[in-house]
Amino acid sequence: MGLTDIELGVLDGDGIGPEVVSAAAQVAEAALEARGIAVRWRRLPIGHAAIAECGDPLPESTLEALAGLDGWLLGPHDNVSYPTQFAGRVAPGGLIRKRFDLFANIRPARSLGPATDRALDLVIVRENTEGFYADRNMFAGSGEFMPTPDVAMAVGVFTRPAIERIAHEAFRTARDRGGRVTIAHKANVLAMTTGLFKRVCEEVGAQYPDVPVDGEHIDALAALLVRRGHTFDVIVAENMFGDILSDLAGELAGSIGAAPSLNASGTQAMAQAVHGAAPDIAGQGLANPTAMILSTALLLRWLGERRGPPALTRAADDIDSAVHATLQNGTRTRDLGGEASTEKFTRAVVATLR
Ligand code: ATP
Repeated sequence: MGLTDIELGVLDGDGIGPEVVSAAAQVAEAALEARGIAVRWRRLPIGHAAIAECGDPLPESTLEALAGLDGWLLGPHDNVSYPTQFAGRVAPGGLIRKRFDLFANIRPARSLGPATDRALDLVIVRENTEGFYADRNMFAGSGEFMPTPDVAMAVGVFTRPAIERIAHEAFRTARDRGGRVTIAHKANVLAMTTGLFKRVCEEVGAQYPDVPVDGEHIDALAALLVRRGHTFDVIVAENMFGDILSDLAGELAGSIGAAPSLNASGTQAMAQAVHGAAPDIAGQGLANPTAMILSTALLLRWLGERRGPPALTRAADDIDSAVHATLQNGTRTRDLGGEASTEKFTRAVVATLR
């Protein structure tokens, strides 16, 4: 990456993926251009397009190209609709996370409406490589299996190194925000697995004496998010707990169509919306591109803070402001009670940036 240009990967994905990824790329390009940065896009096939082109939803050529990039945009994929020969395979997003060890899934939830004292402004820091998602946990074989047709089992995995690094991510995030950390667990019942998660997070927390820490049982936490979500700051959670909590927080903040996320290792990051491929509304101009746009802003900020130039961080801030201003001005997609198409909303954000 030079001082005045960057190269980013673009993987459209399935369903509404091409619509929302194209919107995010247009917005990023406008924001970067306004800050004097030229962006080169590296288009890489994935999902149905890759099956048609290369006979595989995640071709090795795509993975090899990603290895040479600092960051990329990943659209949602609809792996349940892939031909049966790909059934049972980990979804492309999961395979990419694993291949590049994108262990931290950062999922902010910030209310879209006007600022009030009950507005949500929290970040879920989700462990991305193990935990209760059995499909992520195996070197070989499947983490889910059926000894008989009527018995199904799944393997949950919790390891100290993986918990330590996600806990550091959570405490660093809370320190940067001047906030605190809540550990999501169920140590009263799952005392070994989530008990280890809780204990190791607390041990790491002791290295951040300026960051207050508490914990909640995952079921109570779901209720508390609905009752008083505005009182939470950073929530650190294992893989599946974090996934479920972030859908809930995203919807509480306004719409799942506006919930962004970033997947990061120490050296690479991938912007990916929390929502799925939404095949029910694909190709109709109904998709809300906000989640993908804000995910792209997270990616630019991540790159700006680690690699520079600082203009990347400013472009990310500009995107956040432009999206919030556009929504405040009443240009909204249908999921947020408005009438704007994907394209109209995108044009409005780009116009605000310019
Ligand atoms: P996955 O398992 O891949 O996350 P899912 O089946 O859980 O997918 P989504 O594809 O996220 O679910 O869709 C859930 C609902 O939310 C659908 O009704 C869909 O139309 C709606 N939805 C999701 N994303 C958006 C968006 N960007 N804009 C508008 N509506 C959306």
